[in-house]
Amino acid sequence: MSRILNSPVTVGLIIFCAAIFGILTRFDDSLAVLWPANALLIGLMARNPRWASAAGWIMAAAGYVLADILTGSELMTSLMLTAANLLGAAFALGLLTRFDTDARCLAQPAAVLLVLGVSLAAGLGAGIGGGIATGLLFGSPMVKSGLFWMLAEIGNFLVILPLVLTAPSPLQLILDRRRRTWSLPPLKCFIPVATLMGSCLLSAWLDGAGALAVPVPALLWCAISYGLFTTSALTLSFSVWTMIAMSLGYIDTGAAPSFDNGTAGLSARLGVLFITLAPLTVASVMAARTELLERLKHLAAHDQLTGLLNRGAFRDRAISELANLVMSGGPSAVLMLDIDRFKSINDTYGHAAGDQALTGFAQRASGCLRAGDAIGRLGGEEFCVMLPGCSQLEAHATAERIRAAIARTPIALNAKQSITVTVSVGLAYTATSQENFDDLLLRADEALYRAKQAGRNRIEAASA
Ligand code: GH3
Ligand code: MG
Ligand code: MG
Repeated sequence: MSRILNSPVTVGLIIFCAAIFGILTRFDDSLAVLWPANALLIGLMARNPRWASAAGWIMAAAGYVLADILTGSELMTSLMLTAANLLGAAFALGLLTRFDTDARCLAQPAAVLLVLGVSLAAGLGAGIGGGIATGLLFGSPMVKSGLFWMLAEIGNFLVILPLVLTAPSPLQLILDRRRRTWSLPPLKCFIPVATLMGSCLLSAWLDGAGALAVPVPALLWCAISYGLFTTSALTLSFSVWTMIAMSLGYIDTGAAPSFDNGTAGLSARLGVLFITLAPLTVASVMAARTELLERLKHLAAHDQLTGLLNRGAFRDRAISELANLVMSGGPSAVLMLDIDRFKSINDTYGHAAGDQALTGFAQRASGCLRAGDAIGRLGGEEFCVMLPGCSQLEAHATAERIRAAIARTPIALNAKQSITVTVSVGLAYTATSQENFDDLLLRADEALYRAKQAGRNRIEAASA
């Protein structure tokens, strides 16, 4: 599967289909309403560098030429127009690959500037190539047709590139499908997109140039409601719809966005093009904000050294686990763990080695738990484990697994040095889970105290 996906022939095939789509959406003799092939090519090459090879470029060129020939173009015309397409694409890729992968995913407030910059580069290349090609082939005024090619290409890149860059990868889609069962979102999630559709119809009903901007509020609503990819797809749908509606005269801005209408045609294209910047900007700011909030939430709930839940987050999790179990009447257990004579590890090997021992301990103890169990660092060298639905026997077996795993294998500090640590455990069990979490913890702590008194590296269970 991945061999087929990475093959340059796949690029050629995609470009062929995209070029056919572009040719079929030409409503007059000038440029296509949407020419997705070039932006698609660059987006795909940026996402999969294996495609950005000489073979990838050759296959892409073959895709353009084949689509032209099959739809009735002459070979010379096709070769020159393909050269113009590839020149713009090369300009765009040259700029896009200078940015890091994070920026290319567009989840940054300045991402729209990146898309705009790459679109301008693509437009410049296509404008130079297209102006010369159409001048030589059809005797068109080179500057005017170059300008038209440039604006059309900027528009194509602005709407297609974000979609390709933010599309979930096929692998990610498969993993997501395995991880959770898909269900239809609640109806209210569809209100923004329904409003957008209504606004697009309203813009066709109204007269005058202002009709173009009617869908802007709905586009902004979509941008704050959905993710980057969905917003990119809706922005693309809006531009295709508007361009077609203008070309067919449903939206009357005074001139259809075609070459024959001179600067009025250019201005119509520009209007649509700049409108798309607003929802894309909002969506990427929202994506950056969501990612930041996720990071902050993670930082607020986790211990930085070991990566385990911190005291507060662990307590919240344990309380909610107990609340769930009270309904079903199931048992649960809490383990309090305290590394033995940890102060002497710090004193002998240094604080950094102590930190390494804590991280190693956390990894090993986590590895002894089931999927639904929770572990947290309460502070210092004290940890707590919550075992929901666990019988007393199973809880004891888990505690023993952790104790033995810690005592058995020394924790490596570096290539030469390693230290053996041991842990004492206090176990508190509740058959109905009706006990308050703080009371359970207190009983586990008392049992831990007894384990320390009895000589450490052992487990003591609290009495009921
Ligand atoms: P006991 O067997 O009775 O539990 O003895 P102990 O030495 O483990 O317990 P004590 O409470 O006397 O010492 C705990 C030590 O843990 C003291 C403190 O300096 C150290 N400590 C606490 N937090 C950290 C940390 O984040 N990193 C390191 N390296 N040490 C820590
Ligand atoms: Mg200790
Ligand atoms: Mg302690």
